[in-house]
Parts: sequence; structure tokens; C-alpha cells
Amino acid sequence: MFMDDRLESAAAGAFTRVSVDKAEVEREAVIAMLDRERRSLPASVIGLGMLAVGVAMMPNLLPMTLLLALRLASYIYTRMAVTRLEYLIRTRQPAKGARRVMTFAMCLTGITLGLMLWPPPPEASVVAVNLIRGVVIVTATLIAVTLAGLPQARDGMLACFWLTTIAFFVVHPHMQHPALLGILALIVIGIRIYSANTGLHIRSAAQMLVENRQLSEDLADALAHAEFLSWRDPLTGLYNRRKLFEETRIERSPLSRHLLTIDLDRFKAINDTFGHGVGDHVLIAAADTIRDWCSRLSGSGDHQGFRLGGEEFLVLTRGLTETQVSDAAEALRESLAAIGKQFADHDGLNVSASIGVAAWRFSEPLDDALLRSDEACYAAKDSGRNQVRRAV
Ligand code: GH3
Ligand code: MG
Ligand code: MG
Repeated sequence: MFMDDRLESAAAGAFTRVSVDKAEVEREAVIAMLDRERRSLPASVIGLGMLAVGVAMMPNLLPMTLLLALRLASYIYTRMAVTRLEYLIRTRQPAKGARRVMTFAMCLTGITLGLMLWPPPPEASVVAVNLIRGVVIVTATLIAVTLAGLPQARDGMLACFWLTTIAFFVVHPHMQHPALLGILALIVIGIRIYSANTGLHIRSAAQMLVENRQLSEDLADALAHAEFLSWRDPLTGLYNRRKLFEETRIERSPLSRHLLTIDLDRFKAINDTFGHGVGDHVLIAAADTIRDWCSRLSGSGDHQGFRLGGEEFLVLTRGLTETQVSDAAEALRESLAAIGKQFADHDGLNVSASIGVAAWRFSEPLDDALLRSDEACYAAKDSGRNQVRRAV
């Protein structure tokens, strides 16, 4: 595949907006809910403490203590279910089972909260009864709002809470005022509506979070892509002329440096005879050969290949001696001259290159060294092409 085809598909990937992943939004909504749940921990403990105070003031201390113990057990069970669900969600593991356990735990919460409204004996103090009722309603509201991200668990809790209070009416019709049931039903409906609104907010916040995250990923891709394009030649993937000047502007290498100007011979004839497309393939093959040669080159520094334009390339070597550079340049010329074998099905397609080598002296401007390697390359052309010439 051509390098620019690869770039085009990368660009398409970078700029196409992918629709927001619904599962990811759901995950973020549940995480937000679990965060709220953790933050409401002190409120839950205070609520349990206040229930204990109310229970201590009740004349039917023993059954009420038993109900409070049930409430406490249900609270601990819920905490365990939340911890398990949070672990699975955060580690991106399947959490269907844990969600079901959570719904079950919340049904138990609804029942144990409802049980705290057990019809009080007539001699019970008004303060104690109202304290317990108030704490139960506030707790049910808090839980329903906290669980807005998990509608099933929330609705399970509210339904069980309300059904438990109805059960009291069935069991002890003479001890419950029917208006109380109606009030409770209205409270439950109110809580449900308020919680549903909170759920919508949580979901839209989660959606925005996922969208923003996706946008910043797209942006990072696009920036990386833009940086790639600004430094690279799109056809061959080699560094471009811009990168050469940027790179060498801050060149501080203490190693010896050499420039190799490489110009393909009679390239125009390849284009004219076999077409521009084949010419492009030859350029890509030449770039691959140069890249491969750079990576196999010995020496203590790194060596970089550039496409300066058209069929003209440049290599900057670091840490090579004069003899090493001459031998390596000769090896590169041979490799480039062997490219024609890759085009055996194009009869008469021959590839060769003329190479000019110049040392880039310390404190010498790059342009001066470039000029000398260019001149050496022209000298190679003038002497019949397909050869290496050293600058004087
Ligand atoms: P010489 O041996 O003297 O270097 O001759 P030459 O034909 O290689 O040099 P010349 O400068 O006459 O021709 C270079 C050709 O390279 C002309 C131009 O159409 C072609 N060329 C430049 N860029 C590209 C490219 O990206 N793809 C293709 N296929 N051809 C290109
Ligand atoms: Mg040429
Ligand atoms: Mg040329």
C-alpha cells in the first residue's frame, strides 16, 4: 500500500466522529452513582444512629431492636454488594450478576426500612415515633436519589418499602390510619419522580464525559497525525526537507557527520516509459532501501534519511569515519541499483542513483555542506551516473 493511502486512512480514522458508546455511558453513570454512594456513607451512619436513638425511646424495645438489627444487617449486605459491583465495573468485568445482587440488596433495604415503621403502641412517645418516621423517609429519599443511576435497584427498593407499609395495614388495620398509607404512597411517588430526574442528569453528565473523552482522543490522534504530516513526506514516509532543517538547527552532536545527496538517475525516463504510478513505486522502493540501509549502518550515532523532493534524497550520518562513509555509500549505491529486480515484470526498467558525499564540518552551516554534497552528486552524474563521488 502506498504511504499516502495509509495516511489517508489514518486521517479518516482521526477525523470521523464515532457515535458515543452506550455501554461506556452506562458504565460512567454507574461509577458516578457509586461515587455518590460512597460520599453518602456518613449520612447513612448518622441515620442509623438516629434510628437507634428513636428505638431506645420506644416502649416495645425488644421487637424494635430486632427490626433495627435487621436494618443494620441489610445495610452491611448492601455495602458488600456495592463494593463488589464497583470492583467489577471499574475493572470492566461483566457485572450483570452483581447488578442483580444489588437489586436484591435494595429490595431488602426497602423492606427493612418499611419495617422500621412498624405500628407503634399507643403509649409510644410522639417524639420517638416521628423521629423514626422522619429518618426512614429521609433515608429512603437519599437512597433513591443516590441510586438514580441504577433504576432497577431504586424501583425495587421503593416498591418493597411501600408494599411493606401496606402489609402493616393488612395485618393491623386498626392500628394504622388509612391516611398514613396515602401519604406514604404520595411520598414514594414524589421520591420516584425526583430520583428519575436526577437519573437523567447523571446520564447526560456521563454522556458528556464520554463524548469529551472521545473528543480528546480524536484530537490527540489528529495532532499526532498533523505532526506526522508536517515532518514526513507522505509518499515515502521518510522525513522531509522541513524536518532536516528543524533537526539540524539544534544539531549539537560531537560525532563526525556526513551528508549523502542521492539522486536517482534518469528517473524522468522511468515516468515517461512506465507511467507516474510505477515511478512512485520506484521512489517508495528507493526510500525503503535508504531506510533499511540507515538502520543497518554501523557507527555510534543515529543516521537519518530524508526525501528532499522529486527523486532526490539525503542521508545524514553520525559517528562514521571517512572510510566507513565511503564503503557505506558504495553499498547503498549497489542496493539502489538492485531495485530494478523488484520490477522484473517491467521490461527494461533500470534503477540507479548518483551519490555525492560531503563531511559536515563542525560550526559549518548546513547549507554549505549541502552545497558540497550536491556538487559531488553532479560530478557523479557528469562522470556517467550510478557512482559515488566525494566532495573535495
Ligand atoms: P538525472 O539522471 O539527470 O537526475 O535525470 P532525471 O530524469 O532523474 O532528472 P529530472 O530532474 O530531469 O527528472 C526528475 C523527474 O522526477 C521529473 C519529475 O516528473 C519526477 N518526479 C518528481 N516528483 C515525483 C513524484 O513524486 N513521483 C513521480 N512518479 N515522479 C516525480
Ligand atoms: Mg535524477
Ligand atoms: Mg533530480
